[in-house]
Amino acid sequence: MDAASLSAGAKAAAERIRALDVGMLSFREPLKEHCSWEIGGPADIFVQPSEDAQVLRLLRFVREEGLPLVVIGRGTNLLFADEGFRGVVMKFGRRFSDFSVDGASIRARGGLWVPRLVKNLVEAGLSGLEHAAGIPGSFGGLVTMNGGSLRHGVGERVVEVRAVSFAGETRAFSREECGFSYRNSFFQRASDSPESRWIVLEARLELVPAERNDIRREVLGILEERRGKFPLDKPNCGSVFTNDPSVYELAGPPGKIVEAAGLKGLRVGGAEVSHRHANFIVNLGGATASDVLSLIAEIRRRVHDRIGVWLECEVRYVGADGTLVPASTASENLRPEGK
Ligand SMILES: Cc1cc2nc3c(=O)[nH]c(=O)nc-3n(C[C@H](O)[C@H](O)[C@H](O)COP(=O)(O)OP(=O)(O)OC[C@H]3O[C@@H](n4cnc5c(N)ncnc54)[C@H](O)[C@@H]3O)c2cc1C
Repeated sequence: MDAASLSAGAKAAAERIRALDVGMLSFREPLKEHCSWEIGGPADIFVQPSEDAQVLRLLRFVREEGLPLVVIGRGTNLLFADEGFRGVVMKFGRRFSDFSVDGASIRARGGLWVPRLVKNLVEAGLSGLEHAAGIPGSFGGLVTMNGGSLRHGVGERVVEVRAVSFAGETRAFSREECGFSYRNSFFQRASDSPESRWIVLEARLELVPAERNDIRREVLGILEERRGKFPLDKPNCGSVFTNDPSVYELAGPPGKIVEAAGLKGLRVGGAEVSHRHANFIVNLGGATASDVLSLIAEIRRRVHDRIGVWLECEVRYVGADGTLVPASTASENLRPEGK
């Protein structure tokens, strides 16, 4: 898309960013093309850097222009506003995906696609990240979300993360400094406030040498199980609600809680609670962010009425002003359906 349809302020910023070498640029970029739910309006400026120097130049530009910046990976855990975003979205370009092996240690760049990473690890005969098989995100997103499955998270294997702050400071974080907890990390918590955000550039993981065929068998088994369990034929964003240990103890995993409340098949507009797995919301076609937020609000209300628990979202919502909050928080600003 070109810059012609931007507001006057955004158009002026677009002209200035064109003069800089910050990576691939587009304007009024439809965010639904960068989100596995296929939902979201346009971002004023969309940048795909290929190297650290371009990221640093971009950070300096947004600071000088006073523009809001949001960093995304593959958009597999994000819901973008229907209005899109009046600022700059940064997504690593394809070239930001280097991968190298040194004994049992690997280093990967933030833009590497997790399925590719898992394949590389099988080929390298390194075990420890099989649980991430089938997670469709970027490596930077995986580290930020401490993603994983089967009660594991990538953080268990992290030795060091190299990241740059929005203020332009690049530094290495030890595993302890990354503050990993269930589907959470320092980098995710820091993103609550635009001033304290960091970009995960790359990370080093320590794995365990093992037989390639054993690792491959494990990965294929996990992929097979996921294909049977999840509604992968319709646009979705993986698990919507987080599996909070205290809620789990009380009532089980979120999918079971939503199912027990009789909410499979509940629909708002084009968004529906999956019949196959109740912790998934699928886009039946033409779903909007408001449909998804209204559906989340309705599920939370009905579950709360039933068992007295407010389910919280793993999926994060990107508002038109660049706020980044759990979708459950964004859904609280809506009125329940029909009221
Ligand atoms: C079909 C399906 C299955 C899934 N299964 C699982 C699963 O089993 N386990 C699991 O944990 N998740 C799962 N997910 C969710 C999702 O894939 C993970 O959370 C993944 O780690 C998100 O990566 P991403 O690159 O898509 O991040 P995005 O969704 O683009 O972003 C997520 C958050 O991370 C931030 N972020 C992304 N990249 C960076 C970076 N480089 N630096 C700083 N911040 C960054 C964003 O700002 C945002 O706050 C699934 C999703 C789908 C669609």
